[in-house]
Amino acid sequence: VVVHRNCETRLECERCGQIYDIHCDVVNTCERCGSLLEVKYDFERAGNPDVSLILKGSNKCDSLMLWHFKELLPHPLDSDIVTLGEGGSPIRRLSKVSEMLGVKVYAKYYGTNPTGTHKDLGMSVAVSMAKELKVKTALTFSTGNAATSLAAYANLAGIRTIVLTRDEISREKLLNILALGATVVQVSGLKDPWKALNKVRKKVRVYTFTNFVNPFRAEGHKTLAYEVFAKLHEDADFVVCPLGTGGGLWGTWKGFKEMRTLGVMDNLPRMVAVQPEAVMHTVKAFKEGKETAEAFGEGRNTVVQSLADSEPFYGATRPLQALKESRGDAVSVTDQEVIASVLELGKEGYFVEPAAATALAALKREVDNGFVSKGDTVVLSLTGTGLKQPEAIEETVRNGIVKMGMEDLDRLFKIIVGDPT
Ligand SMILES: [Zn+2]
Repeated sequence: VVVHRNCETRLECERCGQIYDIHCDVVNTCERCGSLLEVKYDFERAGNPDVSLILKGSNKCDSLMLWHFKELLPHPLDSDIVTLGEGGSPIRRLSKVSEMLGVKVYAKYYGTNPTGTHKDLGMSVAVSMAKELKVKTALTFSTGNAATSLAAYANLAGIRTIVLTRDEISREKLLNILALGATVVQVSGLKDPWKALNKVRKKVRVYTFTNFVNPFRAEGHKTLAYEVFAKLHEDADFVVCPLGTGGGLWGTWKGFKEMRTLGVMDNLPRMVAVQPEAVMHTVKAFKEGKETAEAFGEGRNTVVQSLADSEPFYGATRPLQALKESRGDAVSVTDQEVIASVLELGKEGYFVEPAAATALAALKREVDNGFVSKGDTVVLSLTGTGLKQPEAIEETVRNGIVKMGMEDLDRLFKIIVGDPT
């Protein structure tokens, strides 16, 4: 008999309460009512005395890899864990941005992960569970980053991967996914990917890795909360998360709530979601006090490819709930603000993709409108590297190139001494 150390973990339907076994039941959504499932922990029954040790004992260590937090995550036996060395990126103070805004700004930069984005955290958890469940074929929709991550982990685990994506996907992302062995299905004119996925799932039983429909991915994002606790030597007042499906934001908030349940953290930060103005469905719903969001805008109208879904996933009910519970806020930003923020983060040494830069653009708005006050402590979730979509800033930076022939070397000398005329 195999005994799992955190056998007090289960999947629970958020509507009808049906319970599923995380180690045996190959389920995406509730088989009874079709609603989303959530990973629940019986912390009391677990009586896990080393929880605070896992979290607090790690203060001095700046390299907390994802599986350091194994006991606080759904996990199979060690032999089934699929890892590429994800997690462990530092939370670093952004001194120039802090000075500019009068706020203590920290960056959680995920670009150092195996495929360059925060998706690796959730995918390592989700693919590990899928391997234990003996899943053979994986299906997902993605604007690119999640698919790249799934392709990497599934390829390692020997799971065949099929990715639905749009025409607009960047060349870098597309080639990444293909190099990692996945089958790419580009659907032209794909407006509502969630509806398309549901259609497929109704016809063929296939295990899916889309955020939330896969109940394990958001669990990986809880580690942002753990790391804020372990690495920041003060309480964070705000955590700003770019919002696509909302899995990162919701998972992070879940991590904070579970730490409160475990009795290791009292003051939870307020969550701030940010979307590009072109598809600000969840921002709109939040401002109107609604519990579900409706389709809004057109994804092709923004440079922020990773967040370019005009259809909210499952009505964005989970991220909206997280914003409400945390007394947070939602803001939209323009492409112009996003590109400016990419370059500002460049001054801090990070080249991020537009989606990550939305976090800084949002913070600037929140400081301007007074939601964030001078002296507050803010953590920005910088979700991915700029190398995945470099053409986003091409137009802006191209004129920085100086072209010359060998006969013009005098001009180079002038540039060196600081006279670029
Ligand atoms: Zn149900």
